[in-house]
Parts: sequence; C-alpha cells; structure tokens
Amino acid sequence: MKEAGKTPGLAVIIVGDNPASRVYVNNKKKTCAEIGMYSEEYALPEETTQDELLELVNTLNKKADIHGILVQLPLPGHIDEKTVLNAILPEKDVDAFHPVNVGKIMIGDFDFLPCTPAGIMELIAESGIELEGKNCVVVGRSNIVGKPMAMLLLHKNATVTICHSKTKNLKEICKTADVLVVAVGRAQMINDEYVKDGAVVIDVGMNRLEDKKLVGDVDFDSVAPHTAAITPVPGGVGPMTIVTLMKNTLTAAKKL
Ligand code: NDP
Repeated sequence: MKEAGKTPGLAVIIVGDNPASRVYVNNKKKTCAEIGMYSEEYALPEETTQDELLELVNTLNKKADIHGILVQLPLPGHIDEKTVLNAILPEKDVDAFHPVNVGKIMIGDFDFLPCTPAGIMELIAESGIELEGKNCVVVGRSNIVGKPMAMLLLHKNATVTICHSKTKNLKEICKTADVLVVAVGRAQMINDEYVKDGAVVIDVGMNRLEDKKLVGDVDFDSVAPHTAAITPVPGGVGPMTIVTLMKNTLTAAKKL
C-alpha cells in the first residue's frame, strides 16, 4: 500500500489526563509505529469544550491521510460521549461505536467489528475452540464489550446468555458455560465456584489493586487449574484489542 502511495493513518484523541487512558493511547501509538502505520495524537486539556472536540472530529473526518479516528473513552463529564462518537464518520469509525456500525454488527453485515470482542473471537478461533452449539455466558452488557460480544458469539451459532448486575443466580448460570466471557470491571470477582470443569474462560477485566497490581475480573489462580483454556491479565485480551484496532484502520484505508 505504501508503494502505491497510501499509508494507513490513525488519529487518536485523548481529553484530560486519565493515567489508564494515557497508557492505552501510548500502546496504540507504539503499535502503529511498529507496523508502519501513520498516526497522529491529539492530547487535549481537560477543560476542552464539546464544540472544540466536535470541530476537531470534523476536521479529521475530512483529512485525507487519516483513515481511522478513535476518541479515547472515558471523556470528561461535561462532554456528551454519544454526541462525539456519533460525529465520527462511520467509514472512519475504527472502534465501531457509531450507531451505523453497531446496527451493521447486529445484522451480521459489518465493515468494522468492535475491537475487544473481535480480538476475543480471534483468540478463540486461533485456539481451535469450536463455538457452534456451545453454551456461552457473557457477564456484562456494556455497549463496548458485553453486548457486541454476545452478538459475535451468536453469529458463530453459540447459545448465548447475557448476565448483568441484576441477574439472579449468577454463579449457577456461569457454571453452565462452556465458554465464559467476563467483563464486569470488578477485581477477581469470578472464582472457581462460578466455573465448570473444562470451561474456556475469557477475562476482559482490567483492574488496579491498591498495590498497583493489574488484575482481571477472574481470580486466575483459583480458576485456571479447572479450565481448558484461560486468558491472563495482563497479556490476554488487551493486546488483541489493539490488533483489531490496527486491522480496522487497514480496512478503512483500503476502502477510503
Ligand atoms: P461497564 O462498567 O460499562 O460494564 C460493566 C458490566 O458489568 C455492566 O453491564 C454491569 O451490569 C455488569 N456488572 C457489574 N457488576 C456486576 C455484578 N456484581 N454481577 C454481574 N454483573 C455485573 O464496563 P466495560 O464493559 O466497559 O468494561 C468491563 C471491564 O473490562 C473493565 O474492567 C474494563 O477496564 C475492561 N475492559 C478491557 C478492555 C481490554 O482491552 N482488555 C477493553 C474494554 C474494557 P449493569 O449493566 O446491570 O450495570
């Protein structure tokens, strides 16, 4: 593509100084550089107004050397995330958060897949895990992880159950899972009592303990011995999220 005069380009916007967001943005920039993609970073101060942010998004929508636009979440409280995400051109929406792309995922006819769920699907496929007819339980129903995750599993003919904070008998439901995907944001909440022997466990959670240690939503030490496969934190789902972001940027560059 470079020889043909096109280098895929990703613009990452970060507002404020959330330390976790800073780490994510740095990792994305670093990966772009490693694989030869062009990237631009826009680090805006916390007090940036919504109108200023929307103006930047509009400028990037029109910028020819930028094929993917990513606004790092969360945004400061005075900015409406939905308004900002909806302003990104769907063709450059490499996070797949725009309603047009969300709708396309629902009907199974998509250009981009949301980065974390798609990264998980790739991990599952690469590990040779068959999903057809399997009982899959997804704990968490966020628009970013839980809901699209359930949809992608459904597209692969799994039988999918979605759990959330109001779910009754969570332990019993989790115990039915052949594949258990956990995205709740609660450190080490899922222990061996939630997992049946031989299950596949995907831990999306990223939580900092008081001693700064990074842990998942799954209590890895108690659960791992009983599983057929399990993802660690760090080094499991997180890197796959970035892989998908790069793939989506490449897809966008090919189409634009
Ligand atoms: P959200 O906070 O948006 O959603 C959490 C979900 O978990 C909600 O649906 C909530 O239910 C549910 N939940 C909370 N507590 C319980 C409980 N006790 N029992 C059952 N369900 C519960 O989080 P995200 O989906 O954005 O992220 C989840 C985790 O994944 C976080 O740790 C985040 O840091 C991590 N993450 C990691 C990524 C990666 O690349 N590795 C990418 C994105 C996120 P309800 O809807 O009822 O409130």
